[in-house]
Formats: sequence, C-alpha cells, structure tokens
Amino acid sequence: MDLRVLYMYAAALALLLCSAATFIQSPTDVFGPVALLEPTPSSARDFGAVVSDAPFAILRPGSSADIALLLGALSSAPPRPRATVAARGVGHSLQGQAQARDGIVVETRSLPRTVVVVAARAGRVSGEATEHAYADVGAGALWVEVLEECLKAGLAPLSWTDYLYLTVGGTLSNAGISGQAFKHGPQISNVLQLQVVTGNGEVVTCSRTKSPDLFFAVLGGLGQFGIITRARILLQEAPPKVRWVRAFYDSFETFTKDQELLISMPEQVDYVEGFMVLDEHSIRSSSIAFPARIDFSPDFGSEGRKKVYYCIEFAVHDLQPDGSSSSVDHVVELVAGRMSHMRSHMYSVEVSYFDFLNRVRMEEESLRRQGLWDVPHPWLNMFVPKHGIAQLKDLLMDTVLAGDFQGAILVYPLLTDKWDGNTSAVIPSAPDGVMYILSVLRSADPSRCGRGCVEEILEQHRRVADEACRAGGGIGAKQYLARQPTQVHWRTHFGPSWDRFLARKARYDPVRVLGPGQGIFPWTD
Ligand code: FAD
Repeated sequence: MDLRVLYMYAAALALLLCSAATFIQSPTDVFGPVALLEPTPSSARDFGAVVSDAPFAILRPGSSADIALLLGALSSAPPRPRATVAARGVGHSLQGQAQARDGIVVETRSLPRTVVVVAARAGRVSGEATEHAYADVGAGALWVEVLEECLKAGLAPLSWTDYLYLTVGGTLSNAGISGQAFKHGPQISNVLQLQVVTGNGEVVTCSRTKSPDLFFAVLGGLGQFGIITRARILLQEAPPKVRWVRAFYDSFETFTKDQELLISMPEQVDYVEGFMVLDEHSIRSSSIAFPARIDFSPDFGSEGRKKVYYCIEFAVHDLQPDGSSSSVDHVVELVAGRMSHMRSHMYSVEVSYFDFLNRVRMEEESLRRQGLWDVPHPWLNMFVPKHGIAQLKDLLMDTVLAGDFQGAILVYPLLTDKWDGNTSAVIPSAPDGVMYILSVLRSADPSRCGRGCVEEILEQHRRVADEACRAGGGIGAKQYLARQPTQVHWRTHFGPSWDRFLARKARYDPVRVLGPGQGIFPWTD
C-alpha cells in the first residue's frame, strides 16, 4: 500500500469518527498533501453562480481505485457517514449540483483522460458483440478533447451537446442533447459501456448486458448511484464538412411544423435546432452568430416595431471526400423546397465539422468580451410534449419575455422513442412521440441585475416551471438540468419512476453519500 492510499484511509476513517468540519482545522494538516486537499474557490462555484456551498475538502483522484477507497470507507460507517461526496467535472451545473457543503468534491478532471479509438469491426468486445467503432474515454475528458482525438481517425461520436467544454461524466449524468438527438437520441443513448465506482466503493464495469441495472441507473442518474470513471462511446464516420442552414419565420406554428417536418427526414437531415428572435434588431447584435465571414444581417422589415421571429437551424453532413458539395447542395435544395419559411430569408454556410460542433465557442468568446460569461446564469430548461409547446411559448411571452430579457431561447423537437426508458433520465409522456426542449438561457449582467434581480428571475422561472410541470392536466412538461427545491418536488418530477430511483439509491448508495448538490436525498438529522 503506498503512502497515497494510506492517506486516503486515514482521511476516510477520520471522517467517520467525527464531523469533518469540527475535527479537522485543515485537511492538509491531517491527511497530507496528496489525498484530500484544501478546497479551492472553484469547488464552491458553478456556471449558474447562484449557489455556493463550500466543501470541506477536495479529492483529485489518479484512478478509480482512489475513489473506491474513499467511497468504500465512507459507506461502511453506521448509521450514516459524516461527509457527502459530489463528483465535479467542470462545474457547468446551474444550481450547485456538483457541490457538497462540508463534504468532499471529487474532481474528475484529474482521472486519466486518455481517449482510445477503436475503428469499426465485427467481433466481440469484453464478451459483447459489437460491429461499431467506439472510443474508450476517461469520464473527466471534455467532449472537445474526445472530438479532437476521434477526428484523427476520421470518426466522431453521434450525439452532442451544443457546447463542447463539458465533461463526459457530467453530461452522461444528465442526458446530453443537441440538434442530433432527434436522429441518434441523447448522448446517454449512445454509450456502450461504463466503468463506475458505486456509492458502496465497488468498481463495476457495466453495459446493457453486464450489470444492466447499474448501467441504466447511472445514465441520467444525476450523480446519485456512482461516479463514472470511464465510458465507451459509440462512433460514426465524421463528415469533413457540414452545410449549416438558417431559415426564418414570423409564425410559431409554421416554425414548429417545419421543425417536425425536418425531424421526419433523418435520411437527409443530420441536425435540427431553432431559436426565438425577440426582435429584429437582436438577431444582428446577437451572439447566436454565424461565422463572422458570413454576411448575416437579415432585414425582416419590422422597422422598429417589436415583433417576434423564429429561426430554424438545420445541418446536412457532407461526406464527399472529393471536395465537391453538389450532392449536399441538392439535399439542402430538396429539403428547403418543402419548408414554409419567409422565402427570402434562408442563409447557409459550409464549415468544417469541427467548427460546426464547436460553434458555441464563438458565442462564449463574444460573451466573455462583453463580461457576460462569468456572471449568474438563471437558466430554465424544460422538455415539453408537442401538444403543450405553443401554450408554453405564450406563457413565456406573458412572463419571462415581457420585460427586459438578456439571453437566448432555444426551441427544438426530439423524438421520445430515441430515449431508453431504463435510464434514470426523466422526459414527459408525449402521446405522438414528439417533445420539445425549450431552453431559456439567461445571463444576468451585474451592471443591470444584482442579487435581488437574479432571485426575482429564479422565482419567475419557478412559477413558470410549476405551471408547466403541474401533474394532472396542463402541459405536463419536465424540467431538465434543474435542482428541485424539495424531495416532494423530486417525487413529482420522477412521477412513476420515483420508486425505481429510490430502489436504485438503496442498492448502489445505501447510506446516501453521493450527489448532495442535487438535494434529492437530504440528510435531515
Ligand atoms: P458538473 O457540473 O461538474 O456536474 C454535473 C452533475 O453531474 C453533478 O451532479 C455532478 O455531481 C455529476 N457528475 C459530474 N461528473 C460525474 C461523473 N463522472 N460521474 C457521476 N456524476 C458526475 N446540456 C445539454 O444536454 N446540451 C447542451 O447543449 C448543453 N449546453 C450547455 C452549455 C453551457 C454553456 C453550459 C454551462 C451547460 C450546458 N449544458 C448542456 C448542461 C451540461 O450538460 C450539464 O451542466 C453538465 O452536467 C455539465 O458537465 P460538467 O462536466 O460541467 O458537470
């Protein structure tokens, strides 16, 4: 046993014996410099910047075994452990979900971040039949790092998030969605295998056929059942280029009808999203920009009147190796011919696949320049059954969008049959198989919106979410990426799958060590 491991035991045992915060003045005094470390300011911060819960210590694991030692010791303490543990990728949570007040934050970025790409071949992988190309990746790797490695082999994952500077473990704990999800499902539908350290401290390799209950529990599991340390991600051939198209609408009904048309054409279309344009001026000054080299300044002729427009964004992969894009142009022409956008308002550009997937980086840079990146982000994300999307849009117009609004509103459809009901992710029941993601992505500029104003926005979002997610009648939406205020709200959120969630918690994290920042299983005594 090396010194590092010894320190780990010492740390865990000390935590069992006494309340960590009262027993130890400084984690490094007692545990030495290697294992548990003093928290840094970032361990009590996230992208949302509305919750700040300082941990007692952080762990920078070098391997799954390090995490197993910590969790094994903590979970064997009767009647319950003295410290909780939260995994933290890069803390792009919105409401403290990767934080652990007075507990321990496990920083997964310190795990090995190797990306091993295996090209397609028929055969058996770890005893399971596969004909797919895949990548074995460390859970602390960013999706952009996975992409860079896979592209070297001409391959790429199928399903993405809009922003790539998120960890694999972090997005798989939620769902991971973007404009490819209508075609391939969320990221959690594109995982072949996981290595997980359960709340009991067991290191388990699981898949659809090997320990399937744990595999499905952890996918969309909000960090409640184990810490993902590695993931095997499905790959496909990466297109060298992408034709990226935008079409504008002045009617919400026509906009959503066309989006639903596009997702019914998976043979032709590879990506579908959309966003609201709150007034014509905002699209010109917006950070939701096309590449700078494109002359993109649509004029809808609203002449200063406040009128809302809608934009569909779709993309077609160009797999032609010879540099000719005639077939992709033909596909776009064919698709566009069936759409009902404002005729003179369709714009398109060809970009590399990497630049397309990394497009939000441009937005990040723009927001950073404006000082709007490291500010509070009171976001609201909801999955909405098709029948409720127009009603929810109207509700937003009357509330959230009635006043001063700074940010973006994404609206795009997804197909529920691409989501595996065995995972822990929660989506609404949508009788016709179509649901929308509606994302209100707000930045609170401190010069215009102080703490009180952020609280007001959050309260406003809570009221909208309560109305949209009300059980029995109504819209029947489900929140995504949200921390529910109480366990009663969580029960309502999970609905019929609450009992399964509870049983999985009892099986894999019986003493409720993991994921305190979600507030699902608070310690009340
Ligand atoms: P963290 O915030 O560090 O952790 C998130 C949760 O997962 C916490 O509960 C944490 O404890 C748990 N967790 C983290 N790592 C692990 C692990 N290895 N094992 C088990 N549990 C773990 N989401 C989308 O679906 N689509 C998008 O397009 C999208 N775009 C985004 C853009 C921005 C700018 C931001 C800030 C967020 C976006 N998100 C999007 C949300 C994002 O997917 C989640 O917030 C995700 O959790 C962030 O990953 P992270 O590494 O920062 O996770």
